[in-house]
Amino acid sequence: MPDPRGFLKYTKRETPKRRPVPLRLRDWKEVYEDFSHDTLREQATRCMDCGIPFCHNGCPLGNLIPEWNDLVRNDRWRDAIERLHATNNFPEFTGRLCPAPCEGACVLGINQDPVTIKQVEVEIIDNAFDEGWVVPLPPDKLTGKKVAVVGSGPAGLAAAQQLTRAGHTVIVFERADRIGGLLRYGIPEFKMEKRHIDRRLAQMEAEGTQFRPGVNVGVDITVAQLRLNYDAVVLAGGATAWRDLPIPGRDLDGIHQAMEFLPWANRVQQGDPVVGDDGEPPITAKGRKVVIIGGGDTGADCLGTSHRQGAESVHQFEIMPQPPESRADSTPWPVYPLMMRVSSAHEEGGERVYSVNTEEFIGRDGKVTGLRGHEVEMVAGKFEKIDGSDFELETDLVLLAMGFVGPEREGLLNELSVDITDRGNVARDANFATTVPGVFVAGDMGRGQSLIVWAIAEGRAAAAGVDRYLMGSTALPAPIKPTAVPQR
Ligand SMILES: Cc1cc2nc3c(=O)[nH]c(=O)nc-3n(C[C@H](O)[C@H](O)[C@H](O)COP(=O)(O)OP(=O)(O)OC[C@H]3O[C@@H](n4cnc5c(N)ncnc54)[C@H](O)[C@@H]3O)c2cc1C
Ligand code: SF4
Repeated sequence: MPDPRGFLKYTKRETPKRRPVPLRLRDWKEVYEDFSHDTLREQATRCMDCGIPFCHNGCPLGNLIPEWNDLVRNDRWRDAIERLHATNNFPEFTGRLCPAPCEGACVLGINQDPVTIKQVEVEIIDNAFDEGWVVPLPPDKLTGKKVAVVGSGPAGLAAAQQLTRAGHTVIVFERADRIGGLLRYGIPEFKMEKRHIDRRLAQMEAEGTQFRPGVNVGVDITVAQLRLNYDAVVLAGGATAWRDLPIPGRDLDGIHQAMEFLPWANRVQQGDPVVGDDGEPPITAKGRKVVIIGGGDTGADCLGTSHRQGAESVHQFEIMPQPPESRADSTPWPVYPLMMRVSSAHEEGGERVYSVNTEEFIGRDGKVTGLRGHEVEMVAGKFEKIDGSDFELETDLVLLAMGFVGPEREGLLNELSVDITDRGNVARDANFATTVPGVFVAGDMGRGQSLIVWAIAEGRAAAAGVDRYLMGSTALPAPIKPTAVPQR
């Protein structure tokens, strides 16, 4: 039973400190300093187990937050990781990368700062790995059924682990040369060091999951081969078709999509031989005047990467107005709050520019040298130019971080002939089954661009759907049902 007066004893929310900016810009390691177990226990004590824990609902995985908060408070770390793993295959990913909608729904957050749930989560799993408690859990017996998982991001990995543990033989296909999806080549090292993926993959391999990187399904193996050789298929290929900015000058050199830029930095950190004689990868911000178009998380990842590479200056453009300093009236508790957030990358420098639209890129000798833009305001739900607000800005590297429009259709999806929704994602029913029998979908491919926590939740739920399809019934948990509208 949690301490109902804990939040009165420990009124202050504490989170780990970020390493000093000048220091962390000299390396690519995660930005946070260690957090002592004693302080963490105090923070977990602030959770009052409030009868109706809205945080459960805030977390797409339905994480049993008050239970593991109390176990940490009582120093029962081993029990805590068991409760955490009961609902989340990969707390080391969410504990580092989740925007924590649970904290937005924390009851304490109504009139105080919410419990630092995400930090408790990451400390529980990091401690469990350190103690050697994260061991392979292979199935007792095999079912003789084979499942192909296409895509190795968090959705594919969660589905694969659940299905392997249920006794199916699972092969994960990934077209990139390494397993991990956006965790591997999108999210920079300073947000999550890749060793966290590798140690989880070692556990999965020891459980029996087989990985086939470097295989583009629909190209290297045909859909017909896939259907012939596997009893079921889980599509977890992500929403990788990026949104472009088709304005004059777009074809100039020096204008790239975020996902053309970010993977190079991750490859350097993985030790790949991708740097030229100048010691730099093919696309680098070193010495450049960088403009990032898009004010979201992907843009922030470009910002942190640009600073570590030694950019001369960085501007991050956002067409929306600057959010308020505290929860906007439009997002009352327990809804995920719209408010100004300062990520570690924003703390490191650069200029955030709100309410601006880019009209045209300008260049010389085929290379971008600047852009023209203007300020905008929202009038009757539409952006309108503010007269007289035109400006020009010098730039020699533009990074487009404006989101993704859905999964790529060519190859796999077209060959499979799965139905596509009006929003451009793979259609699925309440069991995450597509319109093609035996083919299921999980994560961004069916949901549209979203979050890691949703991808894991969908991977778990799709695994339950596959198990039921193959065996007639399932004991696997299905934390969520598909929603028509993606929620970030
Ligand atoms: C730069 C960036 C930063 C982000 N940061 C965060 C964050 O901090 N927190 C957060 O919660 N979310 C973040 N997101 C969103 C999050 O990464 C995604 O929502 C999540 O990874 C989706 O998981 P997924 O498994 O559905 O797909 P993905 O992670 O996209 O993985 C899909 C994989 O499928 C592979 N694939 C596709 N087609 C085929 C094929 N035919 N054959 C074989 N393989 C195929 C792809 O190569 C890819 O590796 C970020 C996204 C980006 C782009
Ligand atoms: S996964 Fe995200 S929403 Fe769920 S408990 Fe962890 S931080 Fe909160």
